Amino acid sequence: MIAQDEQIRVTLPDGSVREYPKGSTGLDIATKISEGLARNVLAAKVNGVVQDATRPIDEDASVQLLTWNDPEGKATFWHSSAHLLAEALEALYPGVKFGIGPAIETGFYYDVDLGGQPFSQEDFKKVEDKMLELARQKQHYIRKPTSKADAVAYFEEKGDPYKLDLLEGLADGTITFYSQGNFTDLCRGPHIPNTSFIKAAKLMNVAGAYWRGNEKNKQLTRIYAVTYPKQKELDDYLYLLEEAKKRDHRKLGKELELFAFSEKVGAGLPLWLPKGTVLRERLENFLRKAQVRAGYSPVVTPHIGSKQLYVTSGHWEKYGEDSFQPIKTPDPNEEFLLKPMNCPHHCEIYKTKPRSYRDLPLRLAEFGTVYRYEQSGELHGLTRVRGFTQDDAHIFCRPDQVKEEFMKVIDLVLYVFNTLGFSDYSAQISLRDPENKTKYIGSDDLWEKAESAIIEAAAEKGLPTVTELGEAAFYGPKLDFMVRDALGRKWQLGTIQVDYNLPNRFELEYIGADNQKHRPVMIHRAPFGSMERFIAILIENSGGNFPLWLSPEQIAILPISEKYEDYANELFFTLQENDIRGFVDLRDEKIGRKIRDAEVNKVPYMLIVGEKEAAESAVSVRRKGQGDLGSMPVAEFIKTFQAEVKV
Ligand SMILES: [Zn+2]
Ligand SMILES: [Zn+2]
Repeated sequence: MIAQDEQIRVTLPDGSVREYPKGSTGLDIATKISEGLARNVLAAKVNGVVQDATRPIDEDASVQLLTWNDPEGKATFWHSSAHLLAEALEALYPGVKFGIGPAIETGFYYDVDLGGQPFSQEDFKKVEDKMLELARQKQHYIRKPTSKADAVAYFEEKGDPYKLDLLEGLADGTITFYSQGNFTDLCRGPHIPNTSFIKAAKLMNVAGAYWRGNEKNKQLTRIYAVTYPKQKELDDYLYLLEEAKKRDHRKLGKELELFAFSEKVGAGLPLWLPKGTVLRERLENFLRKAQVRAGYSPVVTPHIGSKQLYVTSGHWEKYGEDSFQPIKTPDPNEEFLLKPMNCPHHCEIYKTKPRSYRDLPLRLAEFGTVYRYEQSGELHGLTRVRGFTQDDAHIFCRPDQVKEEFMKVIDLVLYVFNTLGFSDYSAQISLRDPENKTKYIGSDDLWEKAESAIIEAAAEKGLPTVTELGEAAFYGPKLDFMVRDALGRKWQLGTIQVDYNLPNRFELEYIGADNQKHRPVMIHRAPFGSMERFIAILIENSGGNFPLWLSPEQIAILPISEKYEDYANELFFTLQENDIRGFVDLRDEKIGRKIRDAEVNKVPYMLIVGEKEAAESAVSVRRKGQGDLGSMPVAEFIKTFQAEVKV
């Protein structure tokens, strides 16, 4: 028997230690902290293991109470919702058999065998209503350890072959059942305290899925769903999904005529259309200018290199088999490779003359197009392609310059992000696995210096970072940038990477102040990552409403009728002379139609010209998103435009 006054010591996440009666649950602890917290507790993390908030805690422990705001709380909520979905399905489709029902990144699914009963989008509402009806009954999720024999007997009686199959792999003594309402499932948990936390439910999709992912097995029906503790959160989520669909860069890229793919050219090889090329060139020029200011020297290197170059760099050994195969020439002793990266070429540029410590850092920048053979199933719009252009640069520096160079690159990257409207960014610092230092190339001393240089540089620049041990490449530590877009989605962008490997392989040297030969450190960096990927993100972030300076077509001149064509053309040339891009819409269409089409094509400025404008050398201005700005003299419009376009 437990003594009444027996206490356990509980350490909370803030480090405070409190005493509670032995056998207190996570919920009990929450209730003593505040009623509000108790209403929101979904599960408890006890000594690092997530468990039901209703399970007794019998020993001293560290306890974290998990709510909707914790990823593990969310996962528990969604997995518990899978049980609720199963309960609803069992009520509506008697005889349904159940596979597995895990939480996924957003929501959960359950694989079910409906025994041939049809199930489609039209049935979603009925199931959602049933789920909410059951949720309102505040059914408790009750945990019950069960012997294997009893568990087998239960599912034999019920006639559920999938649960019996799952049971085969489980050891006696580890098996638990969970029940809520009339539904019992084989599950190790954990779950939320009761169903009343679930206030909003939506079935998202239905698909086929082979049992245990094996196509020799029966195909089950996979029902995807999502639930929320508030209707408003579900509404917000559905809105974001809709928005994301509208902003899909593959869809907008086609509609706005930015890029295209052709089967004949080859999968994963984007064709940049005239408007997309304007956008891309603006971006390149913007970065080119910023890089010249930051002390980079532009270089240009060929799209191919001799196989020997990549044998030296190690790429051939590592990727040769799985990538584009060598290009032959009439000379049987000659082989070339499409370049998979620009670094080896830049190493050879470094070697074109002797370097002294005073020459360093040497920063070589190139918009270098590279080719990598991605599996066809992996290809996706502009974000996964087989040919792409990196905004690449390699910094060759002394070991004592690594920190300063990192700070400079961080400055450049943040300048790029801020100018392009990405204000929510963070970075990941990837370091060595301290337990396994032998798998890395380069001396301990160099690694320690570089790692602390990166950490200090990020801290001094106020960059929010997470640090991951063991995530560094074998050849050096790195820092990767992440941005969150307008829809809250996270994207990985550019990277800064230290490399001790290539300088060795290419035997790069400089003469130090001591007159001795030393090996430089090489830093790879690409703020955008690649032009393709960055533009995809830019399209999805802006929904195609690019800043004025990037817009492929900044103005559309819309004559009210053909009588004003001459004036419209004259105006076009005047604007062109002032570096303003656009077109004259000479179609025989009503002005309303011309305005609508320009809006659909996301042209920022529409300049409407008729009799009055032609007579007064004026334009009637509409700004996308703002509406009618009234009539103004052409000279005034140019001034307004130029003030806005400056970056
Ligand atoms: Zn479960
Ligand atoms: Zn590189």
